[in-house]
Amino acid sequence: MKRDQLIFDLIAKEEDRQKRGIELIASENFTSKQVMEAAGSVLTNKYAEGLPGKRYYGGCEVVDSIEQIAIDRAKELFGATWANVQPHSGAQANAAVFLACLNAGDAILGFDLSHGGHLTHGSPVNFSGKLYEPHFYGVEESTGLIDYDKVEKKALEVKPKLIICGASAYSRDWDYERLRSVADQVGAILLADISHPSGLIARGLLNDPLEYCHVVTTTTHKTLRGPRGGLILMREDFPNPFGIKTPKGELRKMSSILDSGVFPGTQGGPLEHIIAAKAIAFQEALSDEYMQYVLQVKKNAAEMAEAFVQKGYQLISGGTDNHLMLIDLRNKNLTGKIAEETLGKVDITINKNMVPFDTKSPFVTSGMRIGTAAVTTRGLKEADMKKIVELIDQSLMHHEDDAALKDVKASVNEWMVQFPLY
Ligand code: PLP
Repeated sequence: MKRDQLIFDLIAKEEDRQKRGIELIASENFTSKQVMEAAGSVLTNKYAEGLPGKRYYGGCEVVDSIEQIAIDRAKELFGATWANVQPHSGAQANAAVFLACLNAGDAILGFDLSHGGHLTHGSPVNFSGKLYEPHFYGVEESTGLIDYDKVEKKALEVKPKLIICGASAYSRDWDYERLRSVADQVGAILLADISHPSGLIARGLLNDPLEYCHVVTTTTHKTLRGPRGGLILMREDFPNPFGIKTPKGELRKMSSILDSGVFPGTQGGPLEHIIAAKAIAFQEALSDEYMQYVLQVKKNAAEMAEAFVQKGYQLISGGTDNHLMLIDLRNKNLTGKIAEETLGKVDITINKNMVPFDTKSPFVTSGMRIGTAAVTTRGLKEADMKKIVELIDQSLMHHEDDAALKDVKASVNEWMVQFPLY
């Protein structure tokens, strides 16, 4: 077969883009070479519907070992007693949990998308908002923080079957204990979607959701620094509250219902090449080196947040506890769209983001979201965060001055050469 040079040239172009720029998208990271090697391996050729030891296909001995290792490492990393490593993505992990825990039309209560929640937590354009009855809680306009009394009030009012916590753009830690008491009052299952801060949680740098939440989902490619994928975890298995029985008439455990939610519920064959890459990433995340990494991610975010505040930028909630921050650009007379486009011109990648109570459309927005997971992998430290804020500020303050932007871009490219990637 002729080599598809068109695609390989584009991959090389993307690698060059990643190398020469400053990556600040909060959901992105750079995996290790061994993670990519596994993701590009012969395992992509194998069908393996089912679970290790219980497959619907022959020839699964090797992938059984790999998937079992991934499961065991995920459990060790998060202190879980059960894990499913098959979800193809974070959205798939959530879809599997929803299918397992809910009937169509059931009420759910999630964090508002426009306040930092995720599409899969009940957005009307997503399966979660179309198939179920979505209700939302949000942050306070004055503080940018969640008021847990209001979450409780809302839960008592709408009686959700599932309460979802976790977010895509919330820079503060969560009170899982309080949310569990709310869930218990209304008989809801509590799901934490820790896609963003899962690496920090795994290494004890934020509150532990597994202690209080029935079920936890995460992506594996953000702070966790693995391949693109999803994961579902439980600290303790529990009898399902739906009375679903096994063929022998025994009450099925939640673990078994969740496994079915993934396959055959929402997916077919698992991606064993990605599962192998997840196994490697989990092992990496258990290392001392990764511990140093997540500590630095947090330090870098705190330093960067402080540098933005010093320059008069308004951070939602005033700062950050994790790897990301959400910045309201209205006092700078800028939109998220202008910020994203301007910074794109200087090879600094961020994303525009709605801020709570935003009056602009999602295509324009009043804010930008920034995270430190990727630049920390690249080797940048606290002093570098100040320099990044300087470069961002220079660009935004001269967003109509092409010559000034050209100078910033040259500085960015020259600087990044000093932090080799791959
Ligand atoms: N959940 C949260 C909180 C997220 O931030 C994201 C992705 O940004 C997802 C789920 C979805 O993950 P994926 O893009 O892998 O489907």
